[in-house]
Amino acid sequence: MKPIAAGEPCPLCNQPLAARRLASIAGDEGELRITLRGIPVLQCPVDHTYFTKRRFPVWLHTRLIEVDAPSLAAGVASGLLFKRYACVSCGKRLATGSGGGRRDFGFELAFDEQPFRMELSMPVCVCTGCGTEQARSGEELRNLAPSALVHAFKGAGIKAPG
Ligand SMILES: [Zn+2]
Ligand SMILES: [Zn+2]
Repeated sequence: MKPIAAGEPCPLCNQPLAARRLASIAGDEGELRITLRGIPVLQCPVDHTYFTKRRFPVWLHTRLIEVDAPSLAAGVASGLLFKRYACVSCGKRLATGSGGGRRDFGFELAFDEQPFRMELSMPVCVCTGCGTEQARSGEELRNLAPSALVHAFKGAGIKAPG
């Protein structure tokens, strides 16, 4: 199937597609919420919505896992059955629920030169040893992120183009 573009008929209703931005979509998985503000899409007059390129969701997922998630301070997990988490900065054991509350981390991204924003919202803990604020586990974050993204896309009803 050939990819669709702005001006072409919507595959579902045949009305013309236009290039638009979605103001805000969000998906939750576990304690992670991912919010995307202003992602580029193709939309017809009755709001059938498509990614501008088929590769967009995979591109975003890869970028999140390989670049953005690792850039955040996050505890280091150890233990096979019962996970323990150590401070990324000083190595002291992180107490579960050591209240830093929730925090939003924002990333400015661009796909095909179209800028948009991604926000990760999650609980953070504050190390009692050195005071570093961090996500409990980078591994946990990377495990939750793919499903949170899928929920965001599905919730907004975005389909693959073509
Ligand atoms: Zn349509
Ligand atoms: Zn520490």
